[in-house]
Amino acid sequence: MNPIYLDNNATTRVAPEVVDEMLPYFSKFYGNPSSMYNFGGNAGMKIKQARAKVAELIGALPEEIVFTACGTESDNTALWAALRANPLKRHIITSAVEHPAVKNPAEYLSRNGYHITFVPVDHLGRLDLDFFHQHLSDDTAIVSFMWANNETGVIFPVEQIAEKVKSKGAVFHTDAVQAAGKLHINMAENGIDMLSLSGHKLHAPKGVGVLYVRKGTKFAPFMMGGHQEAGRRGGTENVASIIGIGKAAELAAEKMEEENTKIKALRDRLEFELIRRIPNAIINGDCQNRLPNTTSIAFEYVEGEAILLMLDEHNICASSGSACTSGSLEPSHVLRAMDVPFTAAHGSIRFSLSRYNTAEEIDFVIEKLPPVIERLRRMSPFWGQKTACQTTAIK
Ligand SMILES: *Cc1c(COP(=O)(O)O)cnc(C)c1O
Repeated sequence: MNPIYLDNNATTRVAPEVVDEMLPYFSKFYGNPSSMYNFGGNAGMKIKQARAKVAELIGALPEEIVFTACGTESDNTALWAALRANPLKRHIITSAVEHPAVKNPAEYLSRNGYHITFVPVDHLGRLDLDFFHQHLSDDTAIVSFMWANNETGVIFPVEQIAEKVKSKGAVFHTDAVQAAGKLHINMAENGIDMLSLSGHKLHAPKGVGVLYVRKGTKFAPFMMGGHQEAGRRGGTENVASIIGIGKAAELAAEKMEEENTKIKALRDRLEFELIRRIPNAIINGDCQNRLPNTTSIAFEYVEGEAILLMLDEHNICASSGSACTSGSLEPSHVLRAMDVPFTAAHGSIRFSLSRYNTAEEIDFVIEKLPPVIERLRRMSPFWGQKTACQTTAIK
């Protein structure tokens, strides 16, 4: 039985159309795209087409697209490139809710000679723009804010911020891994200098990413080696996966609006019904300004991990915090930055949908989850205390 997969911000199913395009490039056309003979040239031509398709999805020029091995590499490269290109500037600005692919290198740099400002968010996960403006200075080398948050789906006004950053002479990078295919992105109409994408969040395979580098941006490669990617990223191209991300970008661009309308309707129904049926369930983050596919819901006074295990018995996949923080019992840094109370952060579950989810699947979750929460609350000492207190208060 196929699982009911509601964890698409962690990874997505590779689209069947993508697999079909990729397969011949493992077995039949395995040539090195840098070779002089025609056999390799075929792969080179396909990479060129993939580059154009990715560029098309985000309104970029093909030569502004650099293929990497993952979203994490793209994020690391952006930081590295900006710091190397502006060696006299020692200040970095990022947010308190970034993915570990930005957060961890930023923390490393803060221990190694750089000054880092982590811009806080409010209780709805919205960036504190006043704080940001106060800290942006002539010493700032790079500002990196994610376009959309992987845990809550909250969207940051990155296009507006890019203008501000430009006026101070710093580089602006955005991690758009969760935004790609879900939001309208047009690099021709904004001032963003660098932008990261990841294949496996977009129905392409794991192990391929993209770094967009605006024409004219000073750049230093992170992966030094051969002359691939016009000298911006060494290493023989991951031909099949690059073809895959090209096809995935094409599919996303073709049907973005139609799919997002469908996905949002399913997400909204899931959220509405769960909140209606389950007491003390609260949405984390700014509902007015969110990705169409994501909902993070706090079920107060229960353990997120326990909910996930019981959902797993029904073959329903979701996540608590992010995939990268699960395994530890610490609530996610995103929910902590939003000041979500401990009792709510611990019981927070993220559902993230894709084009492959159906109304039947959503109905199944709406039916199965409320009794799960009820059962867990009956076992929870905190829930008992809470209801006892409330009863006392009412009396
Ligand atoms: C998944 C993710 C990444 C990392 O991408 P990988 O390809 O898995 O390295 C970076 N940023 C965000 C927001 C993500 O969701």
